[in-house]
Order: sequence, then C-alpha cells, then structure tokens
Amino acid sequence: MEKFDVIIIGSGAGGSILAKELARKGKNVLILEKGSTINEAEAFKAYDFVFAGVDIWRIIAVGGTTLVSFGNTVPVLVDEIKSLGLDLRDKINDLIKELKAKPLPEKFRGKGTRRFIEIAKELKYNVYLMPKSIDPEKCIVHCKHCTAGCITGAKWSALKELNTALSLGAKLVDEVGKVKIITSGGKVKGVKYIKNGVEKEAYSSVVVSCAGALGTPEILFSAGLEEGIGENLFVDIFVTVGGIVENIELNREIDMQAYVKLENGILTPFYSVFLRQRYICKGISVRPKDIMGIMVKIADTLSGTVSKEGKISKPLTAKDIAILEEYSEKAAEILEIMGANPKSIIITHPRGVHPGGTAAIGKVVDKNLETKIEGLYVADASVLPKAPGAPPILTIMAIAKHLAKNLNF
Ligand SMILES: Cc1cc2nc3c(=O)[nH]c(=O)nc-3n(C[C@H](O)[C@H](O)[C@H](O)COP(=O)(O)OP(=O)(O)OC[C@H]3O[C@@H](n4cnc5c(N)ncnc54)[C@H](O)[C@@H]3O)c2cc1C
Repeated sequence: MEKFDVIIIGSGAGGSILAKELARKGKNVLILEKGSTINEAEAFKAYDFVFAGVDIWRIIAVGGTTLVSFGNTVPVLVDEIKSLGLDLRDKINDLIKELKAKPLPEKFRGKGTRRFIEIAKELKYNVYLMPKSIDPEKCIVHCKHCTAGCITGAKWSALKELNTALSLGAKLVDEVGKVKIITSGGKVKGVKYIKNGVEKEAYSSVVVSCAGALGTPEILFSAGLEEGIGENLFVDIFVTVGGIVENIELNREIDMQAYVKLENGILTPFYSVFLRQRYICKGISVRPKDIMGIMVKIADTLSGTVSKEGKISKPLTAKDIAILEEYSEKAAEILEIMGANPKSIIITHPRGVHPGGTAAIGKVVDKNLETKIEGLYVADASVLPKAPGAPPILTIMAIAKHLAKNLNF
C-alpha cells in the first residue's frame, strides 16, 4: 500500500504547477495521468476531439492541453474570482515574472498582424500586443508549430513545471485507467486506479483533481458527489473569419500576436487551416499566402454539460450566435479595409478550446477549492466561474499556486 502527502490527478496547466509547488515544500507527491509521456514536438498526435454540438479540442497526454497552446499569457477573471473570496493578484504577478510573459519582439510581426493593429486603431478599438510565454531567442519567426507542439523548446508548457516536480522527488504514473476516489466518513482517503490492467490503490488525506473541465466531473462523481457537477460547461467558442488579401502572408506568422478586446471576447489574427479547406470546397483557388484570418473568440453561455455517464454536450445558444455574428461583422470590416473582396469573406465552424466551469467556485468547490468531501480539492479550469472569452492558462496556474500555498497539511 502506497501512502503520499498529496495525490494529483492530471498533469496539465493546474496539475503541473501544483505538483511543483508542493514538491518544493518537501511534500511527497503522486501524479496520476491518463495520457502518455510524449515528445512535445509530436503533441498533435494526442489531440482528443469531442464533437459535442460545438467541437471541443483538448490534449490527453502528460502536460495536458498546454502542449499545444499559442503561448498566450493574460490574466482573466481575476476580479470575478476575487469577489468569490480568492485573491489571485500576487500569484498572477509572480507567474508573469516566472514565465517571462511579454509580447514577441517586433521582428516576429508580419504584414497581417501589423495591418490588423493599424486598422483596429483607426476603428478606435482597444488593441493590445499579446503577452506570450515564448523565449524569442529560441523561437523561429515563421514557425507555425505552436498548436502542434513546440519544436524548439521556446514555448512554455506544463512539462517545464512537471520536470521540476519530478526532479524534486514527485512520482508520476502515466497511462492510468479509470481513477476512483476512496472516501470514508465524509473524508478522502485515497484513490483506486488501473495501471497495465491491474487495479492499484494509493492513500492520502489530500487528493486534488486537475483533470481539466471535461475530466474532473468523472473524478468527482466517483466520490459520490452529484450536486452541480458537470453543469455550466463553457468553452470560449470561436470561429475564424477569412478573406483573400494578396501577399498578406499570415501563413508565415506566429498566430495571435495582437488582440482587440471587446465586451464579450476578442478578435485576433489567426491563420486557420480550415479557411483554405473552405475555399477549396467552394471551388475557389487561393494561395495560402493570400489568406488573412481573424479569430472571433467569445465568452459563451454556460450551456454545456458533462453527464455522470460521461456524455458531453455543448449547444450553441441564441445569445452565443448573436454575439458571434456581431463580432464576425467587425472582423469582416477589418478584412475589407485590409483589401479583401467582400465576396471572399468566409467563416469556419464553431469550436472551443478553453473548456471550463464544470466544478465552479461557489457551486461545487468553496473558496478554498475544496469539495463537500474533506480533503478532496479541484485546481483546474473546471473551477472557473464563467467563460473568460480569452486565454485562461495564467489564471488556472494562479489558482493552483494559491491552493499549494494554502493547503495546511
Ligand atoms: C490549440 C489550443 C491552443 C490554446 N492556446 C492557449 C493559449 O495560448 N493560452 C491559454 O491560456 N490557453 C490556451 N489554450 C487553452 C489551455 O490549454 C487550457 O485552457 C488549459 O490547458 C486547461 O488547463 P487544465 O489544467 O484545466 O486542463 P489540461 O491542461 O488539459 O490538463 C488536464 C490533464 O488531465 C489529464 N486527464 C484528463 N482526464 C483524466 C483522468 N480521468 N485521469 C487522469 N488524468 C486525466 C489530461 O490528460 C491532462 O493532462 C489552448 C488550447 C488549445 C486546444
């Protein structure tokens, strides 16, 4: 029988930093991860596509979905979370320094991003350069590999935190099968999990689910919890609006280097491979270097669910559609000012890559991130109270760092 100070389920944005901070405190940490240990440059092989109404993309692997992020590092929902009793401001500031988050140098911005910024300013939008956790010395100017897995080690991913945790003595078990929480008298006692077809048990009075917003509900249901779990799923729905702008060469730029902040989301330059496919389907021959894309990402309604049986549903609501339409028109206006023929404007299907909300603070966990079972905590995107409409990794990491500091054991 193995005993640990803490058991962490999932090794992505939340799990990795929690493991590092607790290992630093000298705690005996076990990390259980469903996915495999993979080469970061081949992270694209670990995509898990969930067709739930709106398509949801995540990664199942050691390091989680951070392996394919764009490196965008912005604080989100800090005031909303503070109003629920968690003040993350110090943790956010510490992380910005630790991750060295800042916009990439000017040489990385090509015509697409530069024109986007100029036009957004002309139209009096609030436009900002996107802070990125990317080392410009190691990054390749024309590289498009962020969302396939970084090939140079320039981009931060959870593996950096995890490797530190492991070097400090944390234990990682990957490729685990179903994980079940063991409880007794309203308190957590440990977990049962499957490894290589054999059921194992590990014991601890502190277990933290960091399995992501689609994975955490199953863990909490296994503990016998029900109320509110798996409800209120958001994904930050996005579409990409495309137009043909000769020689704009967004296909040779790092995506999302600037963004326009709108009330319910953002607009940001993004070369989606789906745009070219759309043109081909419409019988329009277009060179990749002539395609300009603007991602329209919105804070969607909390319309989704993850059921006890594991069924994931994420319908588009009338409100989501109305905001997507309104913001897509704004994106189309920018494209037309850039020189796109209005007839060339196309839109991709709705997707979401920021699932969250399924174990929200104030609904499923309290301000200490603890569930109704003593010692069972959550520290991942599931605790976010609403859709941010912008990249959430920094806030998720701050939540996990906050938990690491405040766990008294
Ligand atoms: C293409 C793409 C680009 C993105 N770019 C950005 C960006 O630039 N900036 C940003 O802030 N956000 C970005 N995101 C979103 C960001 O990656 C996620 O919001 C974030 O990783 C969520 O953190 P998490 O800890 O909740 O989940 P994850 O990071 O997904 O970690 C969950 C972990 O739990 C594991 N797991 C799941 N179920 C189980 C189980 N039953 N047992 C054990 N382990 C389990 C998973 O394998 C995974 O390792 C992007 C997402 C995608 C898909």
